[in-house]
Amino acid sequence: MTLDRSQSPVMPADARSRRLGGLAALIGNTPLVTVRLRYRGRECRVHAKAEYLNLTGSIKDRMAFHICRTAIEQGVLAPGDTIVEATSGNTGIAFAAFGAALGHPVVIFMPDWMSEERKAVIRSFGADIRLVSREAGGFLGSIANAESLGQELGRVFLPRQFDNQANVEAHATTTGPELIAQLSSQGLTPDAFVAGVGTGGTVMGVAEAFSRGHVDARVHPLEPAESPTLSTGHKVGRHRIQGVSDEFIPGILRLDRLAPVIQVHDGDAILMAQKLARELGLGVGISSGANLLGALQVLDREGWDATVATVFCDDNKKYLSTDLSRAEPVHPGFMSPDVELLDFETTVL
Ligand code: PMP
Repeated sequence: MTLDRSQSPVMPADARSRRLGGLAALIGNTPLVTVRLRYRGRECRVHAKAEYLNLTGSIKDRMAFHICRTAIEQGVLAPGDTIVEATSGNTGIAFAAFGAALGHPVVIFMPDWMSEERKAVIRSFGADIRLVSREAGGFLGSIANAESLGQELGRVFLPRQFDNQANVEAHATTTGPELIAQLSSQGLTPDAFVAGVGTGGTVMGVAEAFSRGHVDARVHPLEPAESPTLSTGHKVGRHRIQGVSDEFIPGILRLDRLAPVIQVHDGDAILMAQKLARELGLGVGISSGANLLGALQVLDREGWDATVATVFCDDNKKYLSTDLSRAEPVHPGFMSPDVELLDFETTVL
């Protein structure tokens, strides 16, 4: 296979460095949203980083930008090289945008069941998107395809987000320290953090930041109850929390360094995300709804006045064609019907 590079003239190294500086100011340093709520009669707070405010609308900007910048500094992403990655969406969107900004062609392999909006946004940045069906291997097939295209093409850079330690480092040097500083400005130190695991970059990086900052706080990975891959070691079923639980346990995830896995039902996550949009105007994606419910489970373990933090990974716009925009049935055991959202405050440093 060959790529037509005529559409993307090679950007000189000094121009690329200037672009990196321009991009840096548009990523990270997100506000901390402190949601006040009542759950089964108990009033409590959940602190969530507003990650949808990153340049391309998700937490994955931090990781993709850090990987691009590190690779450029180390000389492994040379001007004009093609970036090839497997992703469930947000990573593809981030690399597609940064590729456009830095003069790199981008090829994205993605399971074909991800939302139409994800595919359209990736294409809008001029990236080449290759969809992989379940029969052709789904997520693992996407990774295998990215690897073999990397072998086939010359001048390719493979970010390998599931195995790249720079993914963890991005959160260890930005998300985690920002969170610690924002909580500290309120006179708080974190007792626990919880987040849905896609690559595991967020949970591993925040855990690393806590350890470097001598913060004694538990970090819980979260997974869909419908597909408990982390708890069982293999893919179990289909679920609707796009961006998390991608069929296997990623290489950078070290469950032995983390607190117990938290599970949330995908329908409950959808109902919670809908509620945040309708009642507080916080139009977040499905994994953010899951993270808020996960934080409530952690508050139950830690004590209801504990300082528990999470992330709102992306917003609801990429899910307008999905069940997030439809009426979702309530099932016994769901938590979201018992959540009464009261108010929120925002911390910006
Ligand atoms: N939520 C969404 C919407 C995502 O796109 C991702 C990343 N795939 C995650 C959560 C999980 O983040 P991480 O890869 O850092 O584990």
